[in-house]
Amino acid sequence: MRIACVVGTRPNFVKIAPLLREMRRHRVLDPLLVHTGQHYDANMSDSFFRDLEIPPPDVSLGMGQAPGASEIENIVARLEPVLARMRPDMVLVVGDVNSTLGAALAATRAGIPIAHVEAGLRSFDRSMPEETNRILTDAVSDLLFVSEPSGVRNLQAEGIPDDRIVLAGNVMIDSLRASVDKAAGSGVLRDLGLADMSGALPRPYVLLTLHRQGLVENPGALQSVWGAITVLARQIPIVFPVHPRTQNRLRELGSEFYVTSEAEGVGIKMVAPLGYLQFLHLERMARLVMTDSGGVQEETSALGVPCLTLRENTERPMTVTEGTNTVVGLDPDRILREARRVLAGSRSAATIPPLWDGHAARRIVEVLCARAAAGSAIRCTRDHFIASSWTAGLGEVAMARHTANQRALAGM
Ligand code: UDP
Repeated sequence: MRIACVVGTRPNFVKIAPLLREMRRHRVLDPLLVHTGQHYDANMSDSFFRDLEIPPPDVSLGMGQAPGASEIENIVARLEPVLARMRPDMVLVVGDVNSTLGAALAATRAGIPIAHVEAGLRSFDRSMPEETNRILTDAVSDLLFVSEPSGVRNLQAEGIPDDRIVLAGNVMIDSLRASVDKAAGSGVLRDLGLADMSGALPRPYVLLTLHRQGLVENPGALQSVWGAITVLARQIPIVFPVHPRTQNRLRELGSEFYVTSEAEGVGIKMVAPLGYLQFLHLERMARLVMTDSGGVQEETSALGVPCLTLRENTERPMTVTEGTNTVVGLDPDRILREARRVLAGSRSAATIPPLWDGHAARRIVEVLCARAAAGSAIRCTRDHFIASSWTAGLGEVAMARHTANQRALAGM
């Protein structure tokens, strides 16, 4: 079964890496990688291919960034002839970015079945472009691989039949688990002046990322959040790898918001977007992470590092109920209060969700292999639909049953 895997952005690369690795182990699968070019530069793309050992794309659409809907239209227009030449049996998309939806729409028009990895997440905030990307991608997908139980419930509520839904776990955590030891050797703490030559950590720091449109493109919101961050930076160093979109917006706010100095060992250390291994180690060693990123909420939960989400909602509720995440909104007083509460306390042990175990890609690829072997759309039986068992705390049992079902379906 030829599978066109379409990616375009930084979080897509993190999600596709374990899937590609797993797919290549199975001779019944023929994965091809298509890079739309939505993120295209060394920091946002090339370094991820290197750090995550992703083979070079088979096809690069080279489209670069464009605003909103025209970016999606561009991807559809460029992908259609590629799909016509490639003739894949399936298009696989990950996440919620414009490349995800663009590829799903191009596949729909070409009549090619779609698998969506990280399906079902919902913030219930239609002002987020990612939310409409998620809803529309799920609506046209044939196989929906879900990372947490809320995703299953959301898809059911939208009328997606159960036999298309597979609760498989979190591929982003597969990448994390595969890379965390290697990341420890990245030397990032020393490079950023946060460790001595031996690599020991001399003092705590906060890690910050901001890039979500609702915050960064809203000058009032950005200004008030930035105010809280600059106050906190008088107490503890804040390392801030700045997303390209955010860099421009901060500049527009004026130089008083653009802190680069580190007087007396505190302040905001603004650096270019970091490579995956560097960033992962910084996350792991941080005293606190503040973010509006989806993936970072999940990674901090898996690492047991406290996270404050600078948004009014999250589409990843399990990071709050089981993980280390607190959604604090955009009010500067609340942000400061919560940050100081975390910094004053000790780190509490987080529960790591059972299917965030580093094996999500294996479970997904089992389903794809079964489909390839069956030669037609598999129907995921109710037994195989493991959400209810997992929420009852029977993840392992359910997983064994799921695997047995896959083997039966594949005739193994
Ligand atoms: N990330 C990185 N370097 C950075 C910032 C983030 O490698 O400077 C990684 C992070 O570890 C995670 C992914 O990028 O794996 C998250 O991407 P992003 O926050 O851009 O997107 P989102 O998850 O919000 O869709």
